[in-house]
Amino acid sequence: MADPSAATEQPTSGEAGAASRVFSGMQPSGEAHLGNYLGALRQWVRLQDDHECFFCIVDQHAITGEFSPDELPTRVFDLAVSFLAVGLDPERSTIFVQSDVAEHTELAWLLNAVAPVGELERMTQYKDKSARLESIPAGLLNYPILQAADILLYRATAVPVGEDQLQHLELTREIARRWNGRFGSLFPEPQPILSEAGRILGLDGNAKMSKSLDNTVGILAEPDEVWGRVRTAVTDPQRVRRDDPGRPEVCNVFTLHKHFTDPERIPDIAQQCRAGTRGCVECKKILSDSIVDHFSGARARAAELRADPDQVYRILEEGAERARREARSTIREVRERMGMDWAGGRSR
Ligand code: SF4
Repeated sequence: MADPSAATEQPTSGEAGAASRVFSGMQPSGEAHLGNYLGALRQWVRLQDDHECFFCIVDQHAITGEFSPDELPTRVFDLAVSFLAVGLDPERSTIFVQSDVAEHTELAWLLNAVAPVGELERMTQYKDKSARLESIPAGLLNYPILQAADILLYRATAVPVGEDQLQHLELTREIARRWNGRFGSLFPEPQPILSEAGRILGLDGNAKMSKSLDNTVGILAEPDEVWGRVRTAVTDPQRVRRDDPGRPEVCNVFTLHKHFTDPERIPDIAQQCRAGTRGCVECKKILSDSIVDHFSGARARAAELRADPDQVYRILEEGAERARREARSTIREVRERMGMDWAGGRSR
């Protein structure tokens, strides 16, 4: 085990001034939707320009909620297609599936040595989800430990997150501090890179966009399907008749316009809404067309990938191979410091 006095040393990877290493993960809920894109993927694509990035499909997290073993492989594949279609680049980033790298679960177990149960029980997500369940799976409580393992395994220094994940990232930092303090400094305390988009509401205009709430628009959906979804979007409830004046600032359709419609058209959309000179259906049609245009390149790329699924599997396998190299190096160090190098590594 490492000398405890080393606890004050700086971690060897990811220290201040070094190029940032980014880790982020997304659960495999199938094809990505607008919320995934605005809240994460759009930012991930940009981060590739000046960071070393690890992007992971976190299928082992998916088992902490309702899931179907029959559907999971398809959902992983569909999310991988979405990743690649929007521009995550396997030449520049490591793109892989969590369960392909066994060290994630090994490190999660080893972090149990320092992860505080009290903190786990205080996590808002755990409290919300467990309150709705009669029988609470242990995985729901331990989820943030696996999340910490995902990040610390790659000694990531930065993690793009939405506000709702900040609490989990703070726990990761706490776990890193505790582990470093006990076994010697190894893990950087990762910093958040907050999503610029804030909370993306679903078509109901009320709850966060989420497949489980059926309030999403798929980024790779065909034009008819996009329109079929967008036309159901809830608008300003004060607009009952077509010529009622509206309030774009309270309408989620307008918020989505600001993300997808040509910025030069935004003042006209707001003005016509306020004046009651453009109906909501027409306004939504403009949004639908903007979304379809925005993702036309991604749809074409996704069609190519779907026509050659082996290409997707190859990319994920190569990503997993790169990820495993990094993961093995970290886990070797962790085992050694935790006294599990009992035969000088000869047992492995
Ligand atoms: Fe919303 Fe557009 Fe209707 Fe105004 S006109 S309430 S912005 S959908």
